[in-house]
Formats: sequence, C-alpha cells, structure tokens
Amino acid sequence: MTDIVVLGSTNMDLVAYVAKPPQRGETVTGREFRTIPGGKGANQAIAAAHAGGTVSMIGAVGNDAFGTRLRTTLEHSGVNTDHLRTVESPSGTAHIVVDDEGGNAIVVVPGANSAVDHLAPGDEVLIASVDALLLQLEVPLAAVVAGARAARAHGVRTILTPAPAQPLPPELLAVTDLLVPNEHEAATLTGRTDPREAATALLDSVPEVVITLGSSGSLYAARGAQPLTVPAPRVTAVDSTGAGDTFVGALAVALGEGRPVREGLAWASAAAALSVQRPGASASMPYRSEIETQYA
Ligand code: ADP
Repeated sequence: MTDIVVLGSTNMDLVAYVAKPPQRGETVTGREFRTIPGGKGANQAIAAAHAGGTVSMIGAVGNDAFGTRLRTTLEHSGVNTDHLRTVESPSGTAHIVVDDEGGNAIVVVPGANSAVDHLAPGDEVLIASVDALLLQLEVPLAAVVAGARAARAHGVRTILTPAPAQPLPPELLAVTDLLVPNEHEAATLTGRTDPREAATALLDSVPEVVITLGSSGSLYAARGAQPLTVPAPRVTAVDSTGAGDTFVGALAVALGEGRPVREGLAWASAAAALSVQRPGASASMPYRSEIETQYA
C-alpha cells in the first residue's frame, strides 16, 4: 500500500453548457447545468485513492453546501478528510461555460482555498508519515513551499504539478523531487516548446521530470539517465478533463509500491487513458482493478 498526502485545492465546478458563449453585456440561454466536484488537489487525491493508495487530503472547504458535498465526495472515494479544514468563507468555485465546439471559458474563485496558506497543527506529522506528498499550485504558494519543506525534512517524496502554469520560485524547486508538467506548463517554465529540450532545462532545477504529452503519452527524464518516452494507449477520448490529475495520482501510487519508472509510467498512462474515455473528472477516475485490466 502506498501512503499519500495531497496538499491542494477543492473546488465546485459550476458548468453551463451553451451553443455559443455570451459576449460582454449579452445574455444567452444555456442547455444544461451541472455541479461537478473538482479542484486539482481533490482530483489527484481521488485518483490516487481509486488507484489503491491510502490517501489523506490537506486543504480547506467553505462552511456551505458546496463544502459539505466536496468533503463527502472525497470521503466516498476513501480519502481521509481529517486535515481538510472547514473555514468561514465560501468554498472554492470554478465557473465554466462550455460551448458546442468544446471550447470553454473559466473563472476560478479560490474562496476557502485561500485559507490554505500555512500548515495547520498536525499537518507536518501527517506528511512525515507517508510515502509521497502531491502538490499543485491552486492554493497559496506559502503552504505549497511549507508542505514540500516538511516532506523533504522527513525524506518523503514530493511530486509537484506546476498548474496553473506560472514561474516557480527557486525555494520550491529546491524541495521538489519529481515535477510533472504538461507540455504547456513545461513551455511556460522553460520557454522551450520541444518537450525534450524543456525536460533537459528542468533538470537544472529538479532531479526528475515527467512531461505529459496528451494522446502522445509521456516523457521521463532524470539527471544522468537517458530520457524515456512511454506512449499513451490509443483510445477514443470523450473528455480529457482531469487526465493529468489521474496520471499523477496513479503514478504516485505505482512509484510508492516500488514499481520501476517505466512500469509506473505505463500504469499511470493506462489509468489516464481510461479516464479520458468517460465524462467528468473525479467521477471518471478508474479503480485499481480497471487499471490492471487496461495495463495488462
Ligand atoms: P493535462 O490533463 O494536465 O493537460 P495531458 O493532456 O498531457 O495533461 O494528459 C495527461 C495524460 O493523460 C497523458 O500523459 C496521457 O497519458 C493521458 N491522455 C491524455 N489525453 C489522452 C488521449 N487522448 N488518449 C490517451 N491518453 C491520453
């Protein structure tokens, strides 16, 4: 069993489906509305739990109906929420307009996620007890750095998804063991659009990198080793939301079980390929038995 802590965001995605998105000052009638639990932190936690990890979440939800639903969604996936605080502000929300061409426009209001700007009492003890800490950038950087430092101090592997894309401060890179950007994030971090060049550049700052390449799979690079590319299974994608989070959650579980990197990447690719064939993010995250079947 791999023990994992995720320090990150929880958001309720409020999704309106429209034929054509409204222009400024315009009102349009939508076709459908859905509330979908999300946030990169919660998505990675659910992905890792479904993949067979023992997972706890550090974060915050608001004292409102969305907060209750976000917490129960995590708990129903088997994620421990003892370190998920409830704070006196609205839960984080993402307001998403999806049009008929599959394009989207998104406003994220961090809400309760803004309260995750430090480690609360007990968080460090929890981090010290696990195999890996998963981090993203949807909560304040101060907490991300504090969490990564706590993990490093206790020899716990830190896995950082640098999303939303932004330059990373050296103090965070210094305590990152494995960086997992997608192609766009890797280009933002390095100014290189070629993934191999981007990976090489990132190895100046961190010891290991995986760049996810959508339907083209993933690229692994480590200092002093030949880069490794792992193809993605050929599947018909219907919704790639959360593919990267599924990949990271499953990869963390596989590496924690001591699987070699190539095997871990193939296993994570199998998990992500399953998730893109189903609608939704967290609801589409595959269970361990499904991943094993796809992987075989
Ligand atoms: P993100 O979701 O963060 O933008 P990617 O689009 O790179 O990240 O996808 C993450 C991983 O999900 C890929 O490395 C791949 O394994 C898998 N994946 C994404 N899209 C597809 C697809 N169309 N077919 C198969 N696998 C996919």
